[in-house]
Formats: sequence, structure tokens, C-alpha cells
Amino acid sequence: MREFPLEQIRNIGIIAHIDAGKTTTTERILYYTGKKYKIGEVHEGTAEMDWMVQERERGVTITSAATTCFWQPRYSSLKYQINIIDTPGHIDFTAEVQRSLRVLDGGVLIFDGVAGVEPQSETVFHQSQKFHVPLIAFVNKMDRLGASFEKSFDSIRERLTKSAFAIQLPIGAESQFKGVIDLIEEKSFIYLDDLGKEIKEEPIPESLVKEVEEKRKELIEAIVVNHDDLMNKYLEGEKITPEEIRKALREEVIKGRIIPVLVGSSLKNKGVQLLLDAICYYLPSPIDIPPVQGENPETNEPEQRKTGDEEPFAGLVFKIATDPYMGRLGYIRVYSGVLKAGSYAYNPRTRAKERVGRLVRMHANKREAIEEIHSGDIAAIIGIKQASTGDTLCDPDKPILLESITFPDPVISMAIEPKTKADREKMGIALSKFAEEDPTFKFKTDEETGEVIISGMGEFHLEIIIDRLKREFGVEVRAGAPQVAYKETITQPVEVEGKYIHQSGGRGQYGHCWLKFEPLERGKGFEFVDQIKGGVIPKEYIPAVEKGLKEAMESGVIAGYPVVDIRATLFDGSYHEVDSSEVAFKIAATRALREGVKKANPILLEPVMKVEVVTPEKFLGDVIGDLNSRQAQIQSTGERGPSKVIDAFVPLREMFGYMTALRSLTEGRASFTMELSHYSPVPSNIAEAIIKEKNLT
Ligand code: GDP
Repeated sequence: MREFPLEQIRNIGIIAHIDAGKTTTTERILYYTGKKYKIGEVHEGTAEMDWMVQERERGVTITSAATTCFWQPRYSSLKYQINIIDTPGHIDFTAEVQRSLRVLDGGVLIFDGVAGVEPQSETVFHQSQKFHVPLIAFVNKMDRLGASFEKSFDSIRERLTKSAFAIQLPIGAESQFKGVIDLIEEKSFIYLDDLGKEIKEEPIPESLVKEVEEKRKELIEAIVVNHDDLMNKYLEGEKITPEEIRKALREEVIKGRIIPVLVGSSLKNKGVQLLLDAICYYLPSPIDIPPVQGENPETNEPEQRKTGDEEPFAGLVFKIATDPYMGRLGYIRVYSGVLKAGSYAYNPRTRAKERVGRLVRMHANKREAIEEIHSGDIAAIIGIKQASTGDTLCDPDKPILLESITFPDPVISMAIEPKTKADREKMGIALSKFAEEDPTFKFKTDEETGEVIISGMGEFHLEIIIDRLKREFGVEVRAGAPQVAYKETITQPVEVEGKYIHQSGGRGQYGHCWLKFEPLERGKGFEFVDQIKGGVIPKEYIPAVEKGLKEAMESGVIAGYPVVDIRATLFDGSYHEVDSSEVAFKIAATRALREGVKKANPILLEPVMKVEVVTPEKFLGDVIGDLNSRQAQIQSTGERGPSKVIDAFVPLREMFGYMTALRSLTEGRASFTMELSHYSPVPSNIAEAIIKEKNLT
């Protein structure tokens, strides 16, 4: 049985520039929604706060990929279930962002009331716009020296969007920040202490009446334009009730036309309850969003699933985490139907059924075993085996592959080494954990040098990993310079002979094959064709040939990068009754590949990134000029709100240090995102230099 109607569920993310107060606000939300910790029951505050700090240290609460809490807003008789989905603090790796934005229905954007809009907040904002995530904004840290709601609000309107409208105003600022005015109710909420323990409702202070009127008028006018009934009332001078405003505002927020702006100080416990109210009032429920899209894994025909328990089950595993107590956890958003504990679900990627053992819901201070996850809800599968991040799980009788989150191969790598030898093992454990949680991060030990090579989606991605090693595991490392992950391929067909024959004395070796290598289309990887006729090579040795080729392709011929996009056709060869073995054929194939690649005019391929830069108009010329100097191919320039958006393809090797360069070029006002687009040939002069350097080391 479903406990909460779909209308009363909120799947939200709290997104912010680092340091704006995401963690503190999340903690306060969990604090106020905690069943045992209602406002008014707080004694000294310290004990309860300590509880949160401990939880934080134990890493249970807020590191959970999805935490559930409950809230009944003021002026409502309904209780809501809120699932808070963890969003990455650093928004630069597109895959992480996409993954969290995919499963949440609405977001709370947090700003620092002193700094206002910061470069990272722009990135976050633009990402959410791209994914059509409805938002509310919270100007935090009003108690800080230099805090200004007006300035922060103006910076949101100027730098992000004209859709922002204040629905609250602060009373006082800095150490005099006392409370919040609700523009819809036309009431003040005064906080009598720093614990949010006692709140007094009062009329609006005389000194602020005019400002309140002005801001309220702006808000109401923005709402009524799309609501004829309210527009008439407004024009006739009739009173529009707060309920009517909230209902209409909710529609506007869900349609993405208005972003309500709230204010407070999470640290001083001011405004957090009202923020929770706003989450329930204005952010969408799972039925306010369009049906999820996917395709039938057999026919590849598009299909969709509507939110509803009676629909066939479909869900997306958006995070795999390792929990110290429960092992491998698969967090899943159920879009349609019901997932039951003890059932089997189908995974279209692995083409296998996965047993769904126990299910668990994470709360702030406890875990709750549950029997079912209903549509629109989020919880975790304990001990999930096969599924990995981005996989669909669905009803075996009604399979669907949801638009999957695709994770490209890493494009950049770096050698690292722990500063103290003793940390080597700890580093290995930590890296395994990161790789498990983040499908775009990989690591390996170089067999020749013994160096540990980490690879990921960008410079910044690896910097974060190194920082996490230090902060979370106390492992400090020395890091080499970042390297682009190049690939090798061939440009013309060749036929080559591979031989491994030793027959002098004792047991001999005999492997002999003829192979044709041809270039394949970009991105096709490897194809093996067996054209052996009349048993010139016996069947049992053919897999060994394929295996030998695959292994040899891992480290190429011109500069040691993986070889890709090749078709290998085995068309002739010979064998010896006694001396032939799998090993001999494997070695013969390896030799053929090395020889063949050399003869087939090999080239280097490089990752080309799809880069999107969002910049204020006045820097547009400089940004484009700089991109051109990086061999960019500019695809388009467009507009997003008051900003200009440039789309371009740029070779990754030209993107090192781009974040710093862009900041200094634009006074920190521009932001960018990049992701792998495709691989293309490295220009020959540059390729020569790369090969030369690689062969020196
Ligand atoms: P996150 O990086 O976005 O998760 O930010 P945190 O919640 O960790 O906060 C960053 C810093 O800002 C911490 O030192 C917090 O104590 C502080 N902070 C958070 N909220 C407030 C606030 O409302 N007022 C003040 N003065 N400091 C705050």
C-alpha cells in the first residue's frame, strides 16, 4: 500500500556553488523534519546539533545518495514526503550532474547572500535549465557581514534570469538579521533565537511596508498574466487570496516561468522551515513531470512509462554506493509500477534478471526496511549484484530501456603516487571505492613502471579525486602532469602473416595465421571475422587468435595507445599436429597485429570535446578569440537569458587550464561545461611530437 499519494511526494536536489551552504541547509532540513526533533522541543540545541555532527562524521546521513524526510507546511493539512537527492558539489563533470538532474523533479538553488551569483552557480543554473528542472532559490547567509538580499537578488536577475521573483524579504541583515517577510501572506516571521526554536508572527514592520508593496506587486503581476481569472480579479482591484496565489505560482514554477526567491540563514536557523514549505508548495510532484521516455530493447521502438503504480515497473539505477554496513547499494528511482522486495527485475543491458532482495529507505538518523518502492519514489536495493549506475531495471514481461545515462571512456589520465609508501594499500581501497561510485573514473597499475594511473573526464575531475583521497582517506599523493588519452587506428587495408614457430629440440611451438586488417568507422571498436575453410587452422585455436589480437590492441604500435576501429579477418594459416597450441596461435596473432598496424598507415586519434561556454555579452569577442586560438571549431552562438552561449568543438589537449583562463578573461563571469564528443585524427605535426615524446619515455 502506498503511504503517500503521488501529489505529496517531492524529489528534490539542493544545488549550489561550493560553500554557499548546501550541507548546512540539508542538515537543517533534516533537523526540522526529524520526527523527534520538532521545533519547540529543542532544549539547548547543542545535543541535537551534536547528533548531526556525529552523523556527519560517521558519514551516514548526508552522504546518502537519497535521504527521505517528511514535512507538513504551514497553511496545509497535508503531509509531504521529501526525497533529497545528493547532487555533486562540483558541477564540472557532466555525467555526475546529468545523473542527479535526471532523477530529481525540482531543485533548490542556494546562493551566498554576500557573494550573490558566483561562477559555479551560473553553471549549475544553466545545467538545470537544460534539463528543464523547476527551481526555487534561497539566498542564504543573511547573517554574514556584508550580506545583502537586494544585491544578491539583483545579481540573480541580471546574471541568471529575469524569471526570478522575490516571495520573501529579509528583516534586517548581518547581525541584525531577525526574520523574514512572507510577501504572499503579508506577514513577518521573527526568530527570537538562533535555534529557530521560537518564531513570532507579526505584521509587516512600518519601515518595510512600501518595499513589500512594491515587490509583492511585481510578483502578483508576473503570476496573473497567465491566469485569466486572477488577472480579472487583479484588474478589478479585488483581493486575491494567498491560496490562489500559491496555486497559480505553483503552476508557473512547474512550467519554468517563475523562480521564487526566498531568504534566510541556515546556520542561524532562520527561514529553513519556510523553505521547506516552499518546496512542498511550489516544486513538482512526480505526476507533474512528463512521462519518462525509453525504448523497447527488442524492437528499439520508442516507448514511455507514465507515473502510476498500475503501470509496468520501470526504474533507473542512478547511483551505486558501498555502505560500510550494507555492502553494495543500488539507489533507484522508480518511474512506473512497483518494485517489490524479493522479486526479480530485468536489466536490458545485461539481458539478465536481477534478484531484488531487500529494500531500504534512508532517513537522517535511521534506515528503514521497506517492502515496496512505488512509482515516483526513490530508495535503495541492498546487495544489488549486476546492475551498475545508469542501468534500467524493469518488469521482465514488459521490458523497456530508459534513456540511459551514457558514460564515456575517460579522456585524461595522470600518474599518482602516495607520499608515504605505507599509504599504498589505503590508496588502492579508496580508488576502488571511487571507481565503483563514479563510472567515469578508472584506475590501473602500469605493469611496466608500477605507477598507478588514474583516468577521468577532465583535469578538474582528477583534481577532485586527489582532494578526496586527502580529505576522506588521509592519503596525500604526488601527481604527474595530466595526459590526454589518445588512441591509435589504421587508415588502409593490409594483409599480414603472423608466425610463431620454434621446432628445434624438445616440444615445439607452432602458430601460423594470415590476417587482413581494415579500418572501421569511427567508434566501431573491433570486429573479428573467421574465414578459415577446410580446417587449415583447427576450430579450437581460433578463439586464441581473437584473444591475441584483442590483447595486442590494448597497447598500440606507434605510441602505445589502445588501437581501435579495426576489422580483422582471419583467412588462412597452418598448424602442426603436435607442436600447435593456443599460446602459439595467440603469439602469432599478436605479431600479426603489430606488423599489420605498422604497415597500414597508422594514425593517432584524439578526444574532441563538445564545449559550451556561457558568458555575458561584453566578453563574447574575447571568449571566441581565445577559443579560436585553441583550434576550436565554433558551431553556434546563441542566447540564454541575458547571457551568450557558444557551442564549439575543441581538442582536449587545448583545454588544459581552461577554467583559469576563462575566469581571468571574463572577471570570473563566464562558465563552461565540456563533454567528450568524438575522436578525430591528430594533425600530423602534433602527432609527430606526441609520438616522439612517448617513445623517449
Ligand atoms: P557547501 O559547501 O555548500 O555544502 O557549504 P556548507 O554548508 O559546508 O557551508 C560552508 C560554510 O559556510 C561553512 O563554514 C558553514 O558553517 C557556513 N555557512 C553555511 N550557512 C551559513 C549561514 O547561513 N550563515 C553563515 N554565516 N555561515 C554559513
